[in-house]
Amino acid sequence: MPPTIAPLAHRVLPRCSVSPTLAAASSLSCSSSSFSSLASNAAAHGRAIHTSKQRPSPPMPASFDAAVTSTAQASTQAVGEQISAPSTPKKPSPLSVLPLSCILRSLMTTTVSSSPILLGPSMAIMTALAHSTNPLLNPDRNFVLRFFLKKTFYAQFCAGENEREVRHTIDGLKAIGFRGVILGYAKEVVLKDEEKKNLASFDAASRKEATAEEIRAWADGTLETVRLAATCDFVALKFSGAGLEALADLARQSPPSPALADAIDRICQLAVSRGVRLLFDAEQQAVQAGIDDWTMTYMRKYNTPERAVVFGTYQGYLKASGAVLSEHLRQAREGGFALGVKLVRGAYLGSDPRQLIHDTKEDTDVAYDGMAEALLRRQWMAPLTPDSGAFPAVSLVVASHNAASVERAQAILASGTAATTDVAFGQLQGMADEISCKLVLDAKSVQPATKQADACVQAYKYLVWGSTGECMKYLLRRAHENRDAVERTRSTRDAMVAEVLRRFKSVFGMA
Ligand SMILES: Cc1cc2nc3c(=O)[nH]c(=O)nc-3n(C[C@H](O)[C@H](O)[C@H](O)COP(=O)(O)OP(=O)(O)OC[C@H]3O[C@@H](n4cnc5c(N)ncnc54)[C@H](O)[C@@H]3O)c2cc1C
Repeated sequence: MPPTIAPLAHRVLPRCSVSPTLAAASSLSCSSSSFSSLASNAAAHGRAIHTSKQRPSPPMPASFDAAVTSTAQASTQAVGEQISAPSTPKKPSPLSVLPLSCILRSLMTTTVSSSPILLGPSMAIMTALAHSTNPLLNPDRNFVLRFFLKKTFYAQFCAGENEREVRHTIDGLKAIGFRGVILGYAKEVVLKDEEKKNLASFDAASRKEATAEEIRAWADGTLETVRLAATCDFVALKFSGAGLEALADLARQSPPSPALADAIDRICQLAVSRGVRLLFDAEQQAVQAGIDDWTMTYMRKYNTPERAVVFGTYQGYLKASGAVLSEHLRQAREGGFALGVKLVRGAYLGSDPRQLIHDTKEDTDVAYDGMAEALLRRQWMAPLTPDSGAFPAVSLVVASHNAASVERAQAILASGTAATTDVAFGQLQGMADEISCKLVLDAKSVQPATKQADACVQAYKYLVWGSTGECMKYLLRRAHENRDAVERTRSTRDAMVAEVLRRFKSVFGMA
């Protein structure tokens, strides 16, 4: 490690402070909308409502509490632990922490996404807006279009267009009880087939065309994002956003150009100095091996032996993910640094080579849960490849909207037997709110002095910021994801309907 970096890299990141109490969250706004008293919502402990449908069996219990308890118990038995289920008769409805404006907007989005009639035209319009070069279809130039999108889909999924809006949204989430946010800058490149083929053949002339301006724009946006984030927040970054030269280097598994390497170092150093942690996103297979190489370089440079500043992303849907993760764990052990792991299932099912991906969703689920358990327990168990050496320190982000996976990881943490305690849970803003809000409530129920408090659940929301036009590709990806996970989208829609009904009844004293 160069001497200039070492003092920064070894500065111990401050531990996150405990979130404010729920009652203190009475003035939160979600995105830029205001809402009525949260404190009264939080105090209203109505019947819980979420019915997860992610796994076909066992049959769904009648209530959310029952669902959570039974799933947690099943998970717990599956991992061979005895965890006593809380005997409190009534728990708050998880969604009670959300402002009504958020509930209604989420209801609108999930209704569109789960309706075969509404979805087709909506997707066509979103696709046109995300890819069109016509100024009339550019929300950054068409005021009416921008107004409509900003109040609806943008508000549902994004943080804001400028510092004031972003801070307002983040403060709101923290006031609800989220430990922090995962903040991303909207600019992204999604490769077309032709572009993927051309990547490996970029020559020196083409490289010259990739201007320093591309790198500067990406670096400025990412540095600004790190400045917007606070201690204990994460910043997510996509190397593909750094331009064509970065893409070509990633595809060839070459190191980043000197200009880009300098920019990444500046981003890492700023993150270390602010106590912010960096999540390097996983992308399409055409560039993922290169991303892994770069990620390991910066983990080696900036992660301490105990805790990660830089995290790589591991896509559980890849048949090779267990082997790749095992290899990186070995490199971390040998290099004496903590491995930062963001665990996802994988977002490129439609574009990555199908033969590299598990044959069934169930296989992906097994791989994901197996990796999460291995990392939490720090044991070389499947799907990791066997190893007789020590297991390095791990910092883990469980990034998933899958209720069963989240509950399973929570159950291991709650049992007090997890060897990894630097664990965060992340869901995208505007998605799976019923899971996120339950994580928030669960974190609040842990007594600060107990053993579990150290491993207490840390709930995060992933938000992207940027102008409405810049966020269109991100919004399109969310639309695709909602369409592809229609069961989960319906589950969220039903949860929102039930929450609206619960609030309606509580107004008339019927809840
Ligand atoms: C905070 C956060 C950060 C993320 N960052 C990234 C990232 O950097 N890179 C990235 O690629 N994704 C990322 N994702 C998206 C993620 O990969 C998933 O697409 C998304 O979260 C849906 O998976 P799930 O775990 O929520 O659960 P589920 O909805 O239960 O799982 C859906 C996923 O299962 C897999 N799957 C579905 N059908 C099949 C099948 N027939 N065969 C095999 N597998 C199947 C796919 O991966 C699909 O996305 C992120 C998600 C979150 C919440």
